[in-house]
Amino acid sequence: MFGSGNADADLMFIGEAPGANEDRLGLPFVGQAGKLLDKLLGEIGLQREDVFIANTLKCRPPGNRDPHPNEIESCQSYLRSQVELIEPKVICTLGNFATKLLRGDATGISRLHGQEEVRVIGVRAVRLYPLYHPAAALYTASTLEMLRSDFRRIPELLAVGAPEQPVLPHRGDDAHRHPAPPQQPPRPPDALERGSGVHAPPWRDRTAVGADPDPAPQLGLF
Ligand code: URA
Repeated sequence: MFGSGNADADLMFIGEAPGANEDRLGLPFVGQAGKLLDKLLGEIGLQREDVFIANTLKCRPPGNRDPHPNEIESCQSYLRSQVELIEPKVICTLGNFATKLLRGDATGISRLHGQEEVRVIGVRAVRLYPLYHPAAALYTASTLEMLRSDFRRIPELLAVGAPEQPVLPHRGDDAHRHPAPPQQPPRPPDALERGSGVHAPPWRDRTAVGADPDPAPQLGLF
């Protein structure tokens, strides 16, 4: 289940993983949590067709258990490519798994929900806006109220527009005709992040920023 929606969407939602029905139908959020998501979207004047919805995992974990770190790791380059292709202005992470993955940090959703920040995902700077997972709001009225109130700020975030994009080395098809001077070392990733005023990407695009001495993307957050 790879995701669905408007491939030109300014707003992208990233949930956790497909359930049995999502896996069967190949569509995200088809159950009760999805109905709530549709309702909350409607309350801010949006429909599913206006947004793109994906998950951190592309397959259902057996028995609906929590995703394992190696499963998140296996799926994350696909999710990063989705972000790069769709070019959303705002990404709402739904719940802990997506929020921890995209922030590259173990801070939980109850501390972060409703607080937007600029983050670089792959090569793309976005306004990241963590939200409670709609499934968590189905049976807890106070969580639903927080989710609803966080949702109300989405139009304002969209209206601000995309954040300033990081400047990346040219990667066009004619790159072989204009090779970088050999004496020029690859730009250190730190400079990229400092210069653009945004935080370190949790899953830096190694081909975009040149040699990257960082180890593999963080695991163990989940
Ligand atoms: N929960 C999720 O996180 N994603 C889905 O697609 C369905 C339920």
